[in-house]
Amino acid sequence: MCNVLHEAVAAVPKTDRRRLLAMMGVGAAGTLGASVLGQDAAAAHPPQGPAGPGGGNAKSRTELVLLGTAGGPTHNGGERFGISTAVRYKNRVYLVDLGMGAFQRLAASGLRDNSEPNGALNKVRGIFFTHLHSDHTVDWPTLYATGSVNVTDPGREPIEVFGPGRRDSATRVYPPSRPTPALVNPSDPYPGIAAMTGYLRQGFAQDFNDRIRDTDFAGPDVIFRAHDIDISDLWRVDPAGKPPHLDKPIEVWQDGEVTVTATLVDHHPTAPAFGFRFDTPDGAIVISGDTTVSENLIDLAQGADYLVHEVIDAQWVDEIVSALPPEAAEPVRTHLLEAHTTIEQVGRDVAEPAGVKNLVLSHLVPGNSPDKSWRRAQRGFSGRLIIGSDLMSIAVRPSP
Ligand SMILES: [Zn+2]
Ligand SMILES: [Zn+2]
Repeated sequence: MCNVLHEAVAAVPKTDRRRLLAMMGVGAAGTLGASVLGQDAAAAHPPQGPAGPGGGNAKSRTELVLLGTAGGPTHNGGERFGISTAVRYKNRVYLVDLGMGAFQRLAASGLRDNSEPNGALNKVRGIFFTHLHSDHTVDWPTLYATGSVNVTDPGREPIEVFGPGRRDSATRVYPPSRPTPALVNPSDPYPGIAAMTGYLRQGFAQDFNDRIRDTDFAGPDVIFRAHDIDISDLWRVDPAGKPPHLDKPIEVWQDGEVTVTATLVDHHPTAPAFGFRFDTPDGAIVISGDTTVSENLIDLAQGADYLVHEVIDAQWVDEIVSALPPEAAEPVRTHLLEAHTTIEQVGRDVAEPAGVKNLVLSHLVPGNSPDKSWRRAQRGFSGRLIIGSDLMSIAVRPSP
């Protein structure tokens, strides 16, 4: 999700905002900034899985944990935290995206090392970013800056961090008739995860150097190692950002018995954007990232045990855009529906052709839609539908 909706809403005359806010379930125009997406999520989706230290499915060898399930960068005021998903195999934890509050959710999930008070990140082996939208990355600075004091064995292997590399082409301007806006940081307007991490290293230098000189603080280079996922042989990203079809998955990392592969999903014009697949001896878990219906993702997810997929409520989009001025309505509709997957599409057009056993809905937009709305995703899907909630823990076991 981008800021396009928030900006469009801000352009609505104040007198019309009450109607728009009423559609979004918001009582006062003054709360708009905190309420565009998914408020009151907790009331609609109370945590369903066991949670808390030592909770979850700690005894299963492979575990899928939804840390945060909200889509979009706007703080919604509810209890649904920003998008973040964890896969645990034995004692190793892999995180996909770090939305708002992900570190808090990790610490509360039972995935932390409870034998060490300062070991919240002890089990984390890898971090994977599907794309660099802020709703997927804002807690990366939190982990990066505090990693050294949340790992009790700084002599261990670094946490490997993977994500998109630098983009050469600027995103297309939409609608094309609009004046071209100035770029932020024009000398490096589209840094990838490695460069972004380098900027964090600079930004937190005072804290790092204070601690390194004053104590035996390990410093971020000891704790984290960032990698751009190389797609140079596959695609030179163009302004439209629609990825090509891939013949095979991208090999990202083999960590012992855990294999991590990726594909290019379609979150245009944002690109590259990845979906990830984790294969353990117990099964396969695929995480979509942000995407519209993607053939690449359907290929990646073939036969998977669990597909964690983003979803947006198209009826809500219709309600939102109906309250916008015509010039703002179409760009909002285009972004929301062409870069994301609707309730009607996700089961029928993605999970069913992928042949997955379980479809887990996450990155829910809006987060406050009632469960009966999300259950429409079952239509056309013959597997099991799971409506995700924060801290839901799912044991992944080999098929009998
Ligand atoms: Zn998103
Ligand atoms: Zn996004």
